[in-house]
Amino acid sequence: MEKVFSRLRSIINNNGKTKFCISCGEIATQEALFSVGDGVTLIEKYCDTCSRNVP
Ligand SMILES: [Zn+2]
Repeated sequence: MEKVFSRLRSIINNNGKTKFCISCGEIATQEALFSVGDGVTLIEKYCDTCSRNVP
């Protein structure tokens, strides 16, 4: 399954739930959207620092 980077977006409303960066474990502020085919979007959460390293 190929994962194609789509875009980054800020996490604005987290519904009171704190999300953590999947890379370093800090509080996540960005979501990276990836297209994985068949119209499916995969979302991975990153902090500011790690989001800069997302392809
Ligand atoms: Zn991070």
